[in-house]
Amino acid sequence: MALKRNIRTMRLLLAEDDPLLGDGLRAGLRQLGFQVDWVRDGQAAERELRAQPYAAAVLDLGLPMKDGLDVLAALRRDGLAVPVLVLTARDAIPDRIRGLDLGADDYVLKPVDLHELAARLRALVRRAHGQVQECLQAQDLVLDPAARTVQQAGAPVTLSQREFDLLQALMLNADRVLSREQLEQHLYSWGQEVESNAVEVHVHHLRRKLGAGLIQTVRGVGYMLLRQAPPP
Ligand code: CA
Repeated sequence: MALKRNIRTMRLLLAEDDPLLGDGLRAGLRQLGFQVDWVRDGQAAERELRAQPYAAAVLDLGLPMKDGLDVLAALRRDGLAVPVLVLTARDAIPDRIRGLDLGADDYVLKPVDLHELAARLRALVRRAHGQVQECLQAQDLVLDPAARTVQQAGAPVTLSQREFDLLQALMLNADRVLSREQLEQHLYSWGQEVESNAVEVHVHHLRRKLGAGLIQTVRGVGYMLLRQAPPP
């Protein structure tokens, strides 16, 4: 379970009751490379954040069933450290201050600028993992999560969206074994159908493009990418 709780992904929980805004944010963030699960009330937000290892949460404050600030307070009281970005109205300064006091990590004003939101989320996830650099590095690979580009030994590599997401998960968790189930969680949001053998297929393609030795199979457990190339 420890492994599962600590997995590093770009999977987000979005808690927003406004259907238009929620739908727009989910679609926009997905296009920018996040996996997004969307809940529409505070109780569901708290339940899911307790149950699943999200990389970060986007929390509207005015939520039905349970107010966003109460959700935040309950999570922090129980020591849940998931980074939380709060959505607030432009004039709701007391809410913003209270949110930060209660343990919000950042906030974005409504109307939401999607690109600002995505940049702040990437920064939150980076900080949560003690990473300062925007780009991920392992062996001769450099992956830029914002531009969604990969270079190997300085040369650009073309990857499909899923291949990129899989490589990103492996690089965020370099030197750690990820199970197939964990990788599937990274590749798919709720309600998206998981193709059988999807992980195996994408690993196969990544090996073909990046070299057979890059991603290690740990028999019966999963896959791992080493930060440093093993000695020949
Ligand atoms: Ca609301």
